[in-house]
Amino acid sequence: MTTPGEAAPWARFLAALETGCGTCGGRGRTVPAQWRTWYRQADELVRVAQAARRATDLNPAPAISDGSPGPDPAGPAEPSIVAAIDRAIDDHMKARPQSPEEEPCETCHGSGTLLTPAGRDLAALLTRHGFLRDE
Ligand SMILES: [Zn+2]
Repeated sequence: MTTPGEAAPWARFLAALETGCGTCGGRGRTVPAQWRTWYRQADELVRVAQAARRATDLNPAPAISDGSPGPDPAGPAEPSIVAAIDRAIDDHMKARPQSPEEEPCETCHGSGTLLTPAGRDLAALLTRHGFLRDE
């Protein structure tokens, strides 16, 4: 068991060798671009659906006719828009990317930290003395 007085210098030394990875915010994992795109599109669909529902609530009985023949099987015009957006959301949910939602950060290789210049110097020293090998 080390006392704080003994541990502190080493803690400061070790802390100076590493810094948090800015790419992943120190998590060591990132969300792939195709998942970020999928989430952004999902958010947009949800916003469109909410706006359409609000518009439908404001106009519960639309009297506008577009002149198309026969009754619309989906009901009045605005509820059919809501149904179409709901279908688009269903389709979007089924079109999730097949890849994992997270992958190891390419910048820090999953550690969440990067070597500082001092850390790189130490790694170079250890490599020179045979303690580390470049893969
Ligand atoms: Zn990272």
